[in-house]
Amino acid sequence: MDPFLNTCPRVGNGYDVHALKEGLPMRLCGVDIPSAKGFVAHSDGDVAIHALCDALLGAAALGDIGLHFPDSDPRYKGIDSTKLLSEVVAMITGKGRREGYRIVNVDVTIALQEPKLRPYIDAMRQTLAGVMGIDKSQVSVKATTTERLGFVGRGEGCEVWATVLISPM
Ligand code: MG
Repeated sequence: MDPFLNTCPRVGNGYDVHALKEGLPMRLCGVDIPSAKGFVAHSDGDVAIHALCDALLGAAALGDIGLHFPDSDPRYKGIDSTKLLSEVVAMITGKGRREGYRIVNVDVTIALQEPKLRPYIDAMRQTLAGVMGIDKSQVSVKATTTERLGFVGRGEGCEVWATVLISPM
């Protein structure tokens, strides 16, 4: 590989969707959200952390979350997704890898019709920063509804996009 590339920052993006169902728990960015509906999932269903993991893995061209943590594996049943995120961060930052990266910033956009996520945004940023070992100022979490349009607007699911920038150590 061109040695110049070892000096360059790298961008990654991630995307995930989980279905919503009455009576299940809702956790987003490691924060429990009081809600009538929660996520149908093999893990704890933290769709925001899953998108973020995929963005980090994508930036380092290390595959995706399904490759590293297959949902057919009983070890990951009900798992706290912050554990997956901390494993992904360890892969990115170089434990066991020849070259390591620092996380420059992450930006997460959550599309959910309800409940309103505004009251939880600060706790989400703090939680993600803590798990990734970075400062809260490097972590952005944004929330939007879809104006009642589409599957998100009908309250059938939640959609999340994440973008990250990583830089060689
Ligand atoms: Mg997922």
